Amino acid sequence: MPAITYLAKLGELTLKGLNRRDFERRLVENARFGLSGVPAVSVRLRAGRLYIEGPEQAAGVIECVLAHLIGITGWARSVICGKHIEAIRETVYRQALDARTAGAKSFKIEARRADKSFPLNSYQICVEAPSRIVEEGILTVDVHGPDAVINVEIREQCFVFTNARKSCRGLPVGSSGKGLLLLSGGIDSPVAGYRMLRRGMRLDSVYFHAAPYTSEGAKKKVEDLAQVLALYGLDTHLNTIPFTDVQLRIKERAPGAFTTLLLRVCMVKAANLLAGRTGAQCLITGESLGQVASQTNENLRVTETASRCPIYRPLIGMDKEEIIETAKAIGAYDTSILPYEDCCVIFSPKHPALRTDVMEMQAIYDKLDIDGLIQEAFDRREITHFTIKNYIRERWG
Ligand code: ATP
Ligand code: MG
Repeated sequence: MPAITYLAKLGELTLKGLNRRDFERRLVENARFGLSGVPAVSVRLRAGRLYIEGPEQAAGVIECVLAHLIGITGWARSVICGKHIEAIRETVYRQALDARTAGAKSFKIEARRADKSFPLNSYQICVEAPSRIVEEGILTVDVHGPDAVINVEIREQCFVFTNARKSCRGLPVGSSGKGLLLLSGGIDSPVAGYRMLRRGMRLDSVYFHAAPYTSEGAKKKVEDLAQVLALYGLDTHLNTIPFTDVQLRIKERAPGAFTTLLLRVCMVKAANLLAGRTGAQCLITGESLGQVASQTNENLRVTETASRCPIYRPLIGMDKEEIIETAKAIGAYDTSILPYEDCCVIFSPKHPALRTDVMEMQAIYDKLDIDGLIQEAFDRREITHFTIKNYIRERWG
C-alpha cells in the first residue's frame, strides 16, 4: 500500500519566541493523540511544517484530525517528487489534470524554496513548472482568482499540493490551562467553548439537567455537542448535574422576576465546586451582552459576583449572526437547533428583572437556603468522557 503524506502549516505559534518549542511539542502531541489508535501513521515537525504520513487507508482519519487540529493555519495532501524541475513539471501537470477533472478552469502556481541550494528561485519555479499545462491548454493562468492553486515547496524533499485547506489557527490545546464550560444545548455555549479552545485552553464541561422538566432529547443534544467540542479539544469530561430540586426550590421561594437569574447564580456556584475538584481555573459561558434578560450588564455582574473563579464570556461582544456562522463552521449548528427545549416554560418568568442589584440578589439568595441542595446535586453528578480517539474508533474502526 503506497504511503501518503500530508503537510500542515503552523499558525500563530510561529510568533511566540521562547515558548515556541513548547507549543510545537504540544501541537505534535495533539496530532498524535487523535491518531494514536491508527497503525503505521507518523507525525513529525520540521522547519515550521507538520508532516503526517501513513498508508492510503488512513487518509480519512488523518484528514479528520487535521480538519480539527487547533494551531495550524492550513493543510494539504501532498505528493513528493524528485527534486529537479522535470519531475516538478510532471507532477504539477498531473495535479492540473486532476483539478480539471474536478471542474477547475484556471490555476496559478505558488512556489516556496526553503532549500536555497535548489538551483531555481521561487519565481523561476513559477515560470518553469507549469510550462506543459500552458502549452497543452489544460488550465488557463489566473493569478487573482484561480480555481486551483498548485503549490510547490522545495524542502529536504520536493512537495507538490493543490488547494490547501484552511484550518482552525489558534494556539495548541493544552497551552493555556484548563477551563470549565457551562454547556447548554443551545447555539452559543459550544461556540464559546470553541473560542477558548482556540486560545489553547483545555475544556471540561458541565450541563445542568432538570428531568423530567427537560427531556432526554435535550441531554442527548448536549452529549453530541460535547463530542463535537472533543474533536477540537482532544477530549472533554461532560459532568451532568441533576438540578431539578434546585430549580423547584427557586420556584417555590423566590419572586418570579428573579428566577432565571437565580438559576444562573446557582449554576455558577455548582460550577465553582466542580472547578475546585477538577482543577479548572475559570468558567466559560456563552453569554452575550444584552441577548436575554439574564445578560444585561447589571445581571451579568450578579452572576460574576457569585463566582470565585473568573468567568470568561468570549461571545460577549458578538451578535447572533456571527455566533451562528461559527456554530455552522465547527459542525455544531445542526445539533444546536434540534427542537429539545433546555429550559421548561414553567421556570421562565414572563417579566424577568433586567437590572438586579447585587445586594438585593444576595438577600433573596440567602432566603432560599439552597447551598445544601446545590452540594447534593453536585454530589450526584454523572461524568461522561468524550474524546476524538473514541470518535475515530467508532467511525473508522
Ligand atoms: P446557549 O447560550 O448555549 O445558546 P441558551 O441561549 O439557551 O443556550 P442562555 O439562557 O443564553 O442559554 O444561557 C447563557 C449561558 O448559560 C449559556 O451559554 C451557557 O453557558 C449557560 N447555561 C444555560 N443553561 C445551561 C444549562 N442547562 N447547563 C449548563 N449551562 C447552561
Ligand atoms: Mg444564549
